[in-house]
Amino acid sequence: MSRRRKNQRSGENCSESGILDERILVLVFESMNWDPHVLCKVACVSHKLRAVARRVLWRELCVSRAPRMVGALISSAPSGRVGGGWHALAKLFFFCCGCVSSRHFRVDRTLPGHFVGASRFSKTSGKSFLARKCWGDLLYVSDPCEHEMGPDEDDIGVYRGVFSAFMKSRTRACLIKRQVELEAHVRCPYCGARVWSMTAARLVPQSAWKRLGSHNGRLEYFVCVNGHLHGNCWLVPLSSDDDYDDDGNDLDGDDVGVNGKVRRGA
Ligand SMILES: [Zn+2]
Ligand SMILES: [Zn+2]
Repeated sequence: MSRRRKNQRSGENCSESGILDERILVLVFESMNWDPHVLCKVACVSHKLRAVARRVLWRELCVSRAPRMVGALISSAPSGRVGGGWHALAKLFFFCCGCVSSRHFRVDRTLPGHFVGASRFSKTSGKSFLARKCWGDLLYVSDPCEHEMGPDEDDIGVYRGVFSAFMKSRTRACLIKRQVELEAHVRCPYCGARVWSMTAARLVPQSAWKRLGSHNGRLEYFVCVNGHLHGNCWLVPLSSDDDYDDDGNDLDGDDVGVNGKVRRGA
């Protein structure tokens, strides 16, 4: 009996030293250039693989796609962790959450979320979404994903972002000080946590709608308790010479692509 148990145990160890070995999994995914589709599937295979993915693989994928941004996000986080976990950050990199009607942003129909091949996240853009008193915070925001609504309506822009060290941020302190209530019917599409409406908090600066090419009062964004941002706006049709400022600063952000780090101009 004892020998049988011993054999069973050694069999388990054997399997764990194979596909469940973190080092081997890292090498396998490196060889696949950290394909997020494959990683999603692998994380669904078993609880153990899901745990390895959450502990190691999602982080490695995020680092491989956005090394500067990830470095900045964790530089002020003492434990080197990101709010909501690495799987939530990876989802934020690759998933546009679409649009659902909310208290301050009404739409006739829901726009479903979808996978995004490549996005640009920048802290210059992020700063536009911060009230002046919160400019000390570090926030990355993506360019808006444009959704066509039909010939008689403006397009909707969907954008997303993430704070560095949100627990210590001025934005969070401001929300707490103003006793802004968490939204009853909206959840973060990336980590599932509860969110604050920045419109309800009166923390949407002019620079946000200017940055998006929208109009005052025609946008809404939410920040979750883990520091993820998601929002929508009505986009004003732009003429070719009407483009909003392109800071052109390559050191400012990261271009995140499904197939790897996107090289600008390549
Ligand atoms: Zn989209
Ligand atoms: Zn979140």
